[in-house]
Amino acid sequence: MGAGLLGDGCVFCAIARGQAAASIVFEDEWVIAFMDLQPVTPGHLLVIPKSHAEGLEDLQDDIGMRVWAVAHRLGRALRLSGLRCEGVNLFLADGEAAFQEVFHVHLHVFPRFKGDPFRIEADWRVHERRQLDETATAVRRGIAALDVLPR
Ligand SMILES: [Zn+2]
Repeated sequence: MGAGLLGDGCVFCAIARGQAAASIVFEDEWVIAFMDLQPVTPGHLLVIPKSHAEGLEDLQDDIGMRVWAVAHRLGRALRLSGLRCEGVNLFLADGEAAFQEVFHVHLHVFPRFKGDPFRIEADWRVHERRQLDETATAVRRGIAALDVLPR
């Protein structure tokens, strides 16, 4: 096993082990949730698996489901928290190109409200069906390739 798999030097592993400071809001056997150090809005949380996984590729399905379940619950909690929260985003960045900065899987959960500073710049134009169908074919090829990968 490489050092990466053990999470040596990983700040989120250190938080999960109680060896680094964090403002924790929830914890169970598999998952821990705490305040993001650089919140896009007040209430910005990170939900992480306690066991080190760099990204989606090495995240176990059952742990991923637990991360989602906790994020779902926390998203609901934000609306009841008294913090400004007119909407909620769940956001996961997998890979450097997707703006992942800490290479331990984390699901962002944060309040949204009219006029808040969070932005995603993108080209939101509607694509043609032919184009969408071609892309769907590529994705189905990826799904078929998944089935022969060892987990
Ligand atoms: Zn880690």
